Order: sequence, then C-alpha cells, then structure tokens
Amino acid sequence: MTKRETDKLDAYVTRLQARLGLSGWSITRHYYADDHLPEEARGDHDGDHCIGTSDAWSSIEQATINVARDAEEPATRIARHEMFHVLLAPLQAAMNGLREQVAPPAWEIAFGVFNDAEELAVRRLTRALDDDEEEE
Ligand SMILES: [Zn+2]
Repeated sequence: MTKRETDKLDAYVTRLQARLGLSGWSITRHYYADDHLPEEARGDHDGDHCIGTSDAWSSIEQATINVARDAEEPATRIARHEMFHVLLAPLQAAMNGLREQVAPPAWEIAFGVFNDAEELAVRRLTRALDDDEEEE
C-alpha cells in the first residue's frame, strides 16, 4: 500500500468516525505495512494471522485501532470492523462492570456469549457497509 493509499484509508476512517457519532473520541490509528499485525499490535487478541485489533476506553472516549494494510481483505473493511468494536465499547464496559458481581463460572459463560454476539453484530455491520469499498 502506497503513502497515498494509506492517506486515503486514514481519510476514510476519519469520515467513518464522524458517521458513527464518534467525533469527540480520540482514536489512534496504526496501519501496519504487512499482511498481518506484528506481535506487539495484537495485545491479548488471538490468531496466527491477525489482521486487525482495537482497544477502547469508553469512559474517556479514547481508542486505538491496529490495521494490517496489505492483507487480502481491503484495509478499509478491516478498519471499519475495528471501528464498530469501538462503537460498541460502552456495552463492553458495562459488561466488564459486572465482572466482580457474577460468580466466575457464570461470568465465563455470560462473557463468552456476549463476545460472540458482539462479534456477530460487528461482522454484520461491516458487511452492511461493504459498498464503501466500491466508493473508494
Ligand atoms: Zn472483531
């Protein structure tokens, strides 16, 4: 991916941030020139071929997204997927607020179900805006 393409990707993320009502958020973007993320960008996210991650702190409206620029999947699509995780961060924070209130076995089940549901919603939202790639 060229510098010009990376600038275009970043402009897309800026537009998407506004479209999602996240303009007040400080979102740090890292675009890695590779087909997968380096170890340090993966954090505690799993996967041998991890192409995108995000971390978000909704109480202070800050987030970081990490995107592999040269994966088979379009980088705009990877970035959009991660931005939807940022959008849903307040739900993740609410869920985490219950962690100390729920017995560990029940917590593990509830958290797993919640994460699966979030991932499914994020994938569907990402797919719903696949037309964005054609407009690039
Ligand atoms: Zn995801």
